[in-house]
Amino acid sequence: MRFETMAVHAGHASDAATGAVAKPITLAVTFARDADGEYTRGYHYSSKGNPNRDTLELCFAALEGGETAVAFASGCAAIAAALRAALRPGDHVLAPDDVFQGTIRLLRQVLPKWGIGFDVVDMTDAGAVRDAMRRETRVLWTETLSNPLLKVTDIGRIAEIAHARGALCIVDNTFVTPVFQRPLDLGADLAVHATTKYVGGHGDVLGGIAVAPARNAALIGQIREIQSLEGAVPSPFDCWLVHRGLKTLAWRMHGHAKNALQVARFLESHPGVAAVHYPGLERHPQHALAKRLLGGAGGGIVSFQVKGGKAAAVAVAARTKLFTNATSFGEAESLIQHQASSPTHGTNTGLVEDLLRLSVGLEHADDLVADLDQALVGVSG
Ligand SMILES: *Cc1c(COP(=O)(O)O)cnc(C)c1O
Repeated sequence: MRFETMAVHAGHASDAATGAVAKPITLAVTFARDADGEYTRGYHYSSKGNPNRDTLELCFAALEGGETAVAFASGCAAIAAALRAALRPGDHVLAPDDVFQGTIRLLRQVLPKWGIGFDVVDMTDAGAVRDAMRRETRVLWTETLSNPLLKVTDIGRIAEIAHARGALCIVDNTFVTPVFQRPLDLGADLAVHATTKYVGGHGDVLGGIAVAPARNAALIGQIREIQSLEGAVPSPFDCWLVHRGLKTLAWRMHGHAKNALQVARFLESHPGVAAVHYPGLERHPQHALAKRLLGGAGGGIVSFQVKGGKAAAVAVAARTKLFTNATSFGEAESLIQHQASSPTHGTNTGLVEDLLRLSVGLEHADDLVADLDQALVGVSG
């Protein structure tokens, strides 16, 4: 089956009891035992397993090309579980210098207490990654595309470097989703996601998931144990929403990317714009790599720098009408954010004061371009 078909059918069939075509939501916390005390229907207590979570996990594993997926209540819960499953006291993590702010905060503020160290490095520079590896390095943590400068990392290369030194390669695949890149096919050991973003796709549910291939059964088994014992599980309704998002993911991702390319081309030619960062543009320094790795798409996020510095950038974000001035990305509504002043991005590196990040939504691209034009003209004249 192709991706779009698996997205609709994997892990799900019409309900046997009622014929309901859409999956019913099972809110029950506890499940009845058989007369002999067995649980032959597979469920006994909802935090350990639930039909809606099973459907989501089965469908997601199929789409990422993995054997097992384990769902969490948020992206950060999935990341925390993945790191703890992979690491022991004394181990060391290598992360990108522009890694997601929640991940760097876990590495800085939580994991050192458990004896786990880390360094950051430019993951687009294979030589620098090799040099930064230590004997204790157990995890190479990567992201594509990076935030907010949308750098492209060659996952296959990073996985090779990791494996040559007995380390694991874990990929946060939130920005591009399995529609544009399947890290496990490229040699990664584990993929993690904030399903909060493109997978849920409508800005109305938090979620996270970790997916591993069959060769990493022990690692994903540990993650399953953390899910089951620590209880950071998504509710049945959360699972239902995220699974519903999967069904339309491919169509939405192509829509986001098509709109983002049109917006990026417009910004590139605008006199009020100093620079545009979008890997789908020919002049992006890693355009060829993005084309090879991401199937020709640049994703749905565009970052750009406004002439006139921070004040002009903040003013543009205040003037857009279709782009809501808000954090996050991946939903139908377009969003605009000045990251350098965002409360959640105070610790990220590579933040540029005149930079705005766009989450290009699913509105008509002409309307989005017109909105950005009026905001830029209003500020720069
Ligand atoms: C948002 C995000 C997360 C965290 O997801 P939450 O659901 O907000 O915890 C992790 N990684 C990336 C790349 C993200 O953008």
